[in-house]
Amino acid sequence: MINLKIPDDIRKDIPLTSKLIYFDNAATSLTPKPVIDAMVDYYLNYRANIHRGVHKLSVKATEEYEEGREVVAKFIGAKPSEIIFVRNTSEGLNWIPYGITLSEGDKIVVSEVEHHSNLIIWMRLKRKGVKIEFIKEKDGIIDLEDAKEKIDESTKVVTITYVSNVLGTIQPVKELSKIAHSVGAYFVVDAAQAVGHLPVDVGYINADFLAFSGHKGVMGPTGIGVLYIREDIQSEFEPPFIGGGTIEEVSYDSFKLTKGPERYEAGTPDIGGVIGLKAAVKYVSKIGTEKIEKYEQKLAEITIKGLKDIGATVYGTEDTSKRVGVVSFNIEGYTPHEIAAYLDENNIAVRSGHHCCMAFMKKLGINGTVRASYHCYNTKEELERMLEVLSEL
Ligand code: PMP
Repeated sequence: MINLKIPDDIRKDIPLTSKLIYFDNAATSLTPKPVIDAMVDYYLNYRANIHRGVHKLSVKATEEYEEGREVVAKFIGAKPSEIIFVRNTSEGLNWIPYGITLSEGDKIVVSEVEHHSNLIIWMRLKRKGVKIEFIKEKDGIIDLEDAKEKIDESTKVVTITYVSNVLGTIQPVKELSKIAHSVGAYFVVDAAQAVGHLPVDVGYINADFLAFSGHKGVMGPTGIGVLYIREDIQSEFEPPFIGGGTIEEVSYDSFKLTKGPERYEAGTPDIGGVIGLKAAVKYVSKIGTEKIEKYEQKLAEITIKGLKDIGATVYGTEDTSKRVGVVSFNIEGYTPHEIAAYLDENNIAVRSGHHCCMAFMKKLGINGTVRASYHCYNTKEELERMLEVLSEL
């Protein structure tokens, strides 16, 4: 039985936890003070551009930035050269269809539970004659048999959200990766809701591309994210943006792009953001993602039971070993927004609506849900308070 007592230190590091009950972590998480301190330190004490200067501040900023790449790489089982800093998951995913070669008749296989950020970027390719097929889901988890049927020799990309942002369900990514690679397709993972909430290892799941944001599971700043590109496919992946910092040699006749992550990071990056992200990854690593996963699963279990006791409809599998701490529900007689507004009056922040998954909502036959999403700083007492407030509806 997992100890539900969260160290007070984490809550002390996050002042907002004493001001409200924050259950909107799937949208963005709260930021611990050490992360903010790391960014303030950069802006106050060594604010300079990276890679270009020989002066001390620039050297220090470069070292800190590159250490960020190493820390992030280690965290997801990658090599530093495979980590590219982008703005967020959406940007990382958007790059992929631009950087790979796709032709008329090629097939992209996605799942039915995708967030818009990993759906419409592929749907747009239909204009080019690319076909899209959807792997069916049941209770929020994809059907691997259906995947086997849909993934064939014409499939160039298989892509999946590691964890559904609506239901918190964990997908069988390793198994899907095997199927994708058996036909030579790229395997692309949207890990926006996975990284920080459970151990993610790109080697274990055999991802070719994986994207995540700094502001969600790892409690980092907004505006910084990561696109992992496996080293041995980088030569096949054309950078969508080029410019300062991406070149090896330029003349008036020609230019040669450099190798490695710099090839993809055109212009001045979000240096303070990377430094904040590094501090955030270190912070979450210290707690341990395995521990966070188990802790959130326990919170989800209590929530699902409590919600069912008050007659709410809960979506997705009830097997909490296949979920993180995200629970979507509805209560008859109220719209999701009405419930969220009522919880807000009681100082509880949840999300309501379609959660950027309109197509999936249509499949479920609903207009939206109320979504409570947790992180390791949430407590059992907080969710019991939410259940109490809901039972008064
Ligand atoms: N994919 C999933 C599964 C998400 O939950 C989100 C954020 N809700 C995104 C992609 C997009 O993340 P971002 O807004 O940070 O780009």
